[in-house]
Amino acid sequence: MSDRELVVLGTASQAPTRRRNHNGYLLRWDGEWLLFDPGEGTQRQMIFAGVTVSQITRICLTHFHGDHCLGLPGVLQRMSLDRVPQVVDACYPAQNREVFTRLRHAALFHDVVNLRERPVTGGGTVIEASAFRVEAGPLSHSVPAIGYRLTEPDGRRMLPGRLAALGVAGPDIGRLQHEGRLEAGGRVVTVEQVSEPRPGQRFAFVMDTRLCDAAFALADRADMLVCESTFANAEAGLARDYGHLTAGQAGQIAAQAGARLLVLTHFSQRYESGSEGGKRLADEAAAAFGGEVVLARDLDRIPVPPRRGTAVG
Ligand SMILES: [Zn+2]
Repeated sequence: MSDRELVVLGTASQAPTRRRNHNGYLLRWDGEWLLFDPGEGTQRQMIFAGVTVSQITRICLTHFHGDHCLGLPGVLQRMSLDRVPQVVDACYPAQNREVFTRLRHAALFHDVVNLRERPVTGGGTVIEASAFRVEAGPLSHSVPAIGYRLTEPDGRRMLPGRLAALGVAGPDIGRLQHEGRLEAGGRVVTVEQVSEPRPGQRFAFVMDTRLCDAAFALADRADMLVCESTFANAEAGLARDYGHLTAGQAGQIAAQAGARLLVLTHFSQRYESGSEGGKRLADEAAAAFGGEVVLARDLDRIPVPPRRGTAVG
């Protein structure tokens, strides 16, 4: 199991189908689990995926259409039932704060969840953790909507050959990383001598939106871009009217932003029939984007690709 992966809980927009639950995504990032857009049925999909609510550390909502948030009441009440001890951040568009409050108190329960609400106005950094930062940007939908990007800071990769050549071994390696320099074999060794720059990984989450600046900005150099592709290219007019993307536009965002892996999701139920509908969306995205395209299926676990310039993450 990868330390950084996307667990797909649901891939349907608007109405669930026999094969697709409403939206829902869990991003596993080392020791953290970020829940994005829990639609109806999220709690049960988590059971199928083998993930418990006690693992959730952050919740990020893009907007308050039902397919992106009707699973929230169940998840929060289950967290309370299970006495989840940690503080959990919940980010959502600030304009609809009252909807969040209604969802949180949709049913009667003894609320002991340690929720730290982080209503997002506009965009910018919304979560600053030691291992990553989460930023938001305003999308263009029919209601207030935001997309997210998680960025790991750039770091340095230790080079075993140079460490050995300069006589740095064992616990000294950790000390050198921590302190930046140390003495080995009678000379000073700096971390720059035994390492190379390591670009941080990036994950982007772009849901319901028309093409807009923030969609491209959030996707900038993403290692994994999860992007809605509600419609096929032929329904571009519908997509524009309802504030959605076509598969080709999702591919265009990935291509222009220099993303690496494009995960398509949030499909209209009209593409349910057999695998043909899905294949068409993947093909249309691939025509615009030369990188890898994955058509998300419920309960898929999709590893975040290894860092750029590395064979192993
Ligand atoms: Zn929507």
